[in-house]
Amino acid sequence: MHELALAREIIAIVEQAAEGHNANRVRVIRVALGAFGHVEDSSLRFALLAAANGTIAEGAGLEISRTTGRAWCQDCRNTVILETRLSPCPRCGGVKLDVVAGDELRIVNMEIE
Ligand SMILES: [Zn+2]
Repeated sequence: MHELALAREIIAIVEQAAEGHNANRVRVIRVALGAFGHVEDSSLRFALLAAANGTIAEGAGLEISRTTGRAWCQDCRNTVILETRLSPCPRCGGVKLDVVAGDELRIVNMEIE
């Protein structure tokens, strides 16, 4: 399951960071999901709950934000905002687009105690 693998990755990073700060527990984890990522908020939430079980992040809240998808258009030479990975350039209608943002999943920050 895709989400569970992601969740395990997130928890591993969070655990490492929390240990580095001598934290007792993690209160909130904030992650940013790219607009093109095929990850549902609710599935990721569920997977994180499972992955956090028995770790320092057990019971931590999760805040998910979505980042905008962006691409470089080779036709009009602009960085444009894309709604989906397959959208044409909103400026010129071109389709030669290099996606520069929208696939990422990253940890924005976290609150520890
Ligand atoms: Zn264009």
